[in-house]
Amino acid sequence: MAEQTRVLVTGAGGFIGHHLTKYLVDRGYWVRGVDTKEPEYEPTAAHEFKLLDLTEARNCHEATRNVDEVYGLAANMGGIGFIETNKAVIVRDNTFINMHTIDAARNNGVKRYLYTSSACIYPGYKQKETDVTPLREEDAYPADAEDGYGWEKLYMERVCRHYTEDFGLDTRVVRFHNIFGPLGTYDGGREKSPAAICRKIALAKDEDEIEVWGDGEQTRSYCYIDDCVEGIYRLMRSDHREPINLGQDRMISINELVDMVAAIAGKKIGKQYDLTKPQGVRGRNSDNTRLREVLKWEPTISLEEGLARTYHWIAGELEKKAATAGAVVVS
Ligand code: NAD
Repeated sequence: MAEQTRVLVTGAGGFIGHHLTKYLVDRGYWVRGVDTKEPEYEPTAAHEFKLLDLTEARNCHEATRNVDEVYGLAANMGGIGFIETNKAVIVRDNTFINMHTIDAARNNGVKRYLYTSSACIYPGYKQKETDVTPLREEDAYPADAEDGYGWEKLYMERVCRHYTEDFGLDTRVVRFHNIFGPLGTYDGGREKSPAAICRKIALAKDEDEIEVWGDGEQTRSYCYIDDCVEGIYRLMRSDHREPINLGQDRMISINELVDMVAAIAGKKIGKQYDLTKPQGVRGRNSDNTRLREVLKWEPTISLEEGLARTYHWIAGELEKKAATAGAVVVS
């Protein structure tokens, strides 16, 4: 029998890392998960789970020992409300995590390394209208990434290329576009728009209004978590070393997103706009031409289906919390 491949998933206590760990264990991999915290909503599927702070070089050496591949998902991050107001700690923590992890992987003889980049590396000047042209990988330059979080991601993409060219470490770079789904953060300040909207609607009564950041006309595309982990796996098994988009290419506005979730919840929901809140770029969508070419695949789960699964999970979590606190939630 072939020897079992041993992999490290960093950020395995987080949203995508936790789902990816389950996926890889199901596929027969031996998985070590590393994070500063355990997964919040269910136990990890990892064979070994280490609580380590990866901003420290010695912890990165311990984490990357005796593994064939590294999936690097650890990051200090959150939705637009968090990344707009925590730039220094984000670039500090993520620079340390990423540089120490890739260097430790090289020193420990890791064969393949995945870096998780973001649509936030794309230039602001290409995202000024709601009806934008979908972003192709080559649109990243001339660079004008999102201040803080986005620039660190773009820099690390280049570091991966240098480590491949100069040190022979085989790297893969994926640019996620708004990944969402169950078991993701939905409150506390780090949540992203789909989870925040699901939470607000789950807590609202029929005919209530919910707060929307900006005028709600800003556009995005959203990719369901099961498609995300499938895409990550396919990329790791491919020979494609250049950065690649991983997202859906169906663009909708935040207003449409709210209406979609309200329909799933079976509630009539009004919108109250707060123009003082951070909104990010005006419009963004993924061009999936390269994804289709390289992976012979693209995300398949519809936004309606993904949102329904996410809404019901968040509503269920809120009901559990309310039951513990002795309150009533309308969902
Ligand atoms: P997440 O916040 O749920 O998970 C990140 C995990 O990293 C967390 O569990 C956190 O505790 C851990 N972490 C933070 N600092 C650490 C440290 N010092 N040592 C060890 N672990 C640490 O985020 P996610 O959505 O699962 O994102 C995973 C990766 O994908 C990140 O690199 C993120 O930047 C990238 N990404 C995500 C999205 C998205 O829509 N979710 C979009 C673009 C890029």
